[in-house]
Amino acid sequence: MEMTARQPIIAIDGPAGAGKSTVTKQVAQQLGLLFLDTGAMYRAVTWAVLQAGIAPEDQEQVAALLPSLRLTLRPPTAPEQPTQVFVNDQEVTAAIRTAEVTGLVSVIASQGAVRETLVAQQQLMGQPGGVVMEGRDIGTKVFPDAEVKIFLTATAAERARRRQNDLATQGQPIPPLAELEASITQRDAMDSNRAVSPLCQAADATLLITDGMTIPEVVAAIVELYHSQMNRRSAFT
Ligand code: C5P
Repeated sequence: MEMTARQPIIAIDGPAGAGKSTVTKQVAQQLGLLFLDTGAMYRAVTWAVLQAGIAPEDQEQVAALLPSLRLTLRPPTAPEQPTQVFVNDQEVTAAIRTAEVTGLVSVIASQGAVRETLVAQQQLMGQPGGVVMEGRDIGTKVFPDAEVKIFLTATAAERARRRQNDLATQGQPIPPLAELEASITQRDAMDSNRAVSPLCQAADATLLITDGMTIPEVVAAIVELYHSQMNRRSAFT
């Protein structure tokens, strides 16, 4: 039996609005692991592209910009806060969550040069293990040998409803449900149909459809899966 030198990795993939960030953070906290929000990295590159005045579809110019970008992720200041994100020391934590960045991030994330650069960084950051990593291609591409793989999803209607609740909690304007559902479906389609590392469930991932489940229930299901995987592995080593 092959022994892995690194600590375990939990890969949590799934479409926009499935609750990955909240769930990832809580799973990491309960298991004493680090967490890594890879979507924040694609958002940070999108922000930098817009700042530089580059058209997001201009693959050559986007690729040329990449070497000048130094992305840094730091743990949130409080559990309910997002990961702190910096591009070349400038904090962009809030700036990468605007509707403009959200609307364009899939265009940037579909580009081979961007994915190559960010996947390499994610593999480096996750190398020691002991991390819960969330994204779209963690179980298929970034860490195909992750000990636990989850594909977290919910129907688009449910995800739109959750998004409305989030916006209401943040005191932000609330778009109609149909509008939110349409933009979620559009981002899903772009992420699922791109040529490079499309969003898809890894063959060995556990599918969790979270309609009708509370966050603590989802977190408990993943923590339980982690323990059973770890027990199974230690029984063989
Ligand atoms: O998770 P979040 O919604 O912040 O991700 C933003 C976008 O980044 C996704 O819609 C997707 O286009 C891209 N992404 C990706 N691969 C990842 C993480 C995010 O393509 N591993």
